[in-house]
Amino acid sequence: MEEKLAILGGNPVRKSLLPYGKQSIDDQDIQAVIDTLRSDFITTGPAISEFEKSVAAYVGAAYAVAFSNGTAALHAACFAAGIGRGDEVITTPLTFVASANCVLYSGGKPVFADVDPVTYNIDPRSIASLVTPKTKAIIPVDFTGQPADYDQIQAVADKHNLVVIEDAAHAIGAEYKGKKVGAFSDMTMFSFHPVKHITTGEGGVIVTNNRDYYDKLIMFRTHGITREPGGLLEKRHPWEYEMQFLGYNYRMTDIQAALGNSQLRKLDPFVEKRREYVKAYNAAFEKLDQVIIPAQLAGADSSYHLYIIQLAGPLKGLRREVFDALRAENIGVNVHYMPVHTQPYYKDRGYTRGLCPVAERIYEHIISLPLFPAMTTDDVSDVIRAVIKVTSYYGMNTEDSR
Ligand SMILES: *Cc1c(COP(=O)(O)O)cnc(C)c1O
Repeated sequence: MEEKLAILGGNPVRKSLLPYGKQSIDDQDIQAVIDTLRSDFITTGPAISEFEKSVAAYVGAAYAVAFSNGTAALHAACFAAGIGRGDEVITTPLTFVASANCVLYSGGKPVFADVDPVTYNIDPRSIASLVTPKTKAIIPVDFTGQPADYDQIQAVADKHNLVVIEDAAHAIGAEYKGKKVGAFSDMTMFSFHPVKHITTGEGGVIVTNNRDYYDKLIMFRTHGITREPGGLLEKRHPWEYEMQFLGYNYRMTDIQAALGNSQLRKLDPFVEKRREYVKAYNAAFEKLDQVIIPAQLAGADSSYHLYIIQLAGPLKGLRREVFDALRAENIGVNVHYMPVHTQPYYKDRGYTRGLCPVAERIYEHIISLPLFPAMTTDDVSDVIRAVIKVTSYYGMNTEDSR
């Protein structure tokens, strides 16, 4: 009855590789881009302001500023928060490197707090234990799309007067205690890379309710230059502009924003599809005692950028075998993420293994399964069949050999 694994010469569950994530682009999206290409503005035009207004309205924030990518947006947020030389910023190691690199760009020092073993999100108690007089900000990541524990995180931030920059690259459309992600932190970043919920090719946004942050973000995006009459600038001639600090060219084009405007209209159905597929995965995998399914905190409503299983019991030491076997079945599994502090660049700067034992342990046992709205229910069934096929094989065969 047991099927032979593809990695051992059997037939793979599917014929072609199913990637772990992929954009959904339709004719409406393509037409929106074409219309912009034919218009007067292909950058810094009306599609940008429409995109910023729509993102802000969607999440319930006062302001949004679009950037060339999410990493640039995080860099800008660190600038607006006043991060500079010697300042410490607390973030999670279980994330993409950009969440910590933005602190280095600003001359600050990333400090890694450990994660909660159940949600994999940054642990507020670990944050509290790492605050020093040099700490200026916290960058929590809404890992896989589940909002971090913001009641606790905000309490630490309030106590020590820290800025909260929420890395919500995974979490547009998610909710925390009935509020949309983007509505409550000092600044929140969304990414529009093609694997994320909606895409602009490359792109990012910071949303905020704070006018002062907004003004800084706008100028940081364009070389630190302002053309505003009155306000900051003493304008003597109509052609004058004033560079007030060293900013960057981090602008998004109207071509990207046009795609973003069209994609944003489909965000809710995209998130709904992800939630539907996660239900199917959960129902299939909660019966397997060698697989731990993602846990949701009460009050946190994930928008599911990623679906991560953790291998348990006899499968614990067999992540590489299970990973290779699933790839051989043509399931494009992945691993998110190698803890940032264990990257060679960080190791060379004194960050050591053992700094965040929970994150390091979880990393050894996790695998991300394919999840994106353009998957079909047949694709979902293929993933389920392959996971059951592979985990039951390795689960049984290792028990036999012990
Ligand atoms: C994708 C991602 C980023 C960076 O976004 P880009 O748009 O690719 O620059 C930052 N943080 C996390 C957690 C991400 O997943």
